[in-house]
Amino acid sequence: MTLSTIGSDQRSVLRTLAGRVTGNFIDGRWTPSSSPDTITVLDPSTGREIGTVPASSAADIDAAVAAARTAQPGWAALTPAARSKFLLDIATLTEELLEEISIIEAVDAGKPITAVRDEELPGVIDAMRFFAGAARTLPAPSSGDYLEGVSSIMRREPVGVAAGITPWNYPLLQAVAKVFPALATGNTYVLKPAETTPYSTAWLAEIVARVLPDGVFNVVFGTGAVAGDALARHPKVDVVSFTGSIETGRKVGIAAADGVKKAIMELGGNSPVIVFGDADLESALDAIAIGGLYNTGQECMSASRVIVHASLLDAFVDGLKARCSREKLGDVLDPTTTIGPLNSAQQRDRVLAKIEARTSGARVVAGGENCEGDGFFFPPTIVVGVADDEELVQEEIFGPVFTVQTFETEEQAIALANGTRYGLASSVFTSNVGTATRVQNALNFGTVWVNNHLVFAADLPVSGFGASGIGTENAEAGLLEYTRLKHVMVDNR
Ligand code: ADP
Repeated sequence: MTLSTIGSDQRSVLRTLAGRVTGNFIDGRWTPSSSPDTITVLDPSTGREIGTVPASSAADIDAAVAAARTAQPGWAALTPAARSKFLLDIATLTEELLEEISIIEAVDAGKPITAVRDEELPGVIDAMRFFAGAARTLPAPSSGDYLEGVSSIMRREPVGVAAGITPWNYPLLQAVAKVFPALATGNTYVLKPAETTPYSTAWLAEIVARVLPDGVFNVVFGTGAVAGDALARHPKVDVVSFTGSIETGRKVGIAAADGVKKAIMELGGNSPVIVFGDADLESALDAIAIGGLYNTGQECMSASRVIVHASLLDAFVDGLKARCSREKLGDVLDPTTTIGPLNSAQQRDRVLAKIEARTSGARVVAGGENCEGDGFFFPPTIVVGVADDEELVQEEIFGPVFTVQTFETEEQAIALANGTRYGLASSVFTSNVGTATRVQNALNFGTVWVNNHLVFAADLPVSGFGASGIGTENAEAGLLEYTRLKHVMVDNR
């Protein structure tokens, strides 16, 4: 594929921002790193360099945590209404600058501009507003006289300094999902974005600095092994929120446990999609195609693992192939592009390796090979006849890849769906409400969609069951992760 030169003017927005990133964002300003090492950030559509960010040291993490600690008491002392107003102002600024941040996120992460500007970022702005408002109505057990002679008062307090380690698939969305509930409830924050996608977080740091007091939100760039690890185990950090792979999550969890601090984990999935014989096939196919190809399948809830009733196999595969062939891969700033590149050469290699490791019975009926040319493009891919125990089924793929398995009975479908270590998301397509109700009940997943897939709102909880995570993001439950409940008992005699 030959890439057009579309968007060279628009790309200058990102180049300008990259030029301003001269260090980490600590205590309200760009601060030089104590480490001479840097990370080179590439444009995944072209493979060309965008800029460099510091490969920060543990000393840089120390400085950021110290700034967050200093700012925390003052931030926590504000009323919920005052904090909410600050956060709403950030949402308004983000909305005003939607075009700019859309270009930055689209180019840096490799996302089609239309998807970022029209779907993802409006959702991010809504999440900012959701958390800003929700923190004004925090629930707690009611205060009262539970024992004779004493009165009990319940207080929901911030935990203190929160730290976040974000992945590269939804850099700004993930940052907001972690930072906003924490700030709304009176915590201050240190965030380390992923190596390949630092710039929307850098942009957020500058926007936040126009609104919030210094030190409330700090950003440190760097590798997971050095900066991420130092942040997760830092003794002055009170809660860590991580989104990424199970293997890295385990390391972050161990580092957090070392300091006896809370860790919230969102660790990926390989979502089963059960299509019963009585499903409305056309609308199921539409939802599954979007659910599996959105963000080039780099989505931990992607509709990747289709389990279809044997009677529908041929019609389903034909319909999915037709939908895949309609997609347009290309430069992310071309408004007609529907699928962008994978985020990095490494990610493309990982996806290809999983497909190449398939068993002899598995047939690739669409895609399956790297696209030629610049950038890290990979086509929509369908693999039919996969065995239940193979890597493509058992492990997260994180690319535009569907596997298709068949079933005869409801019990078989449920067993296949529940048959991996993941438990993040799933979906069921059927026209029978009884089937839908029984099956959702039997599925071990934090999210079950019925006749739909990959539909979100900040109001709704995301919880990983099994190896997919610990704790909840979004919704009231996500907000409460950043609070601690204090019981005050007063002798009233
Ligand atoms: P990937 O391998 O695709 O980069 P990861 O789950 O390893 O996915 O990365 C998600 C985030 O975790 C990134 O910000 C990365 O820098 C960070 N990370 C990687 N290793 C560690 C670690 N040992 N400790 C803390 N954070 C880490």
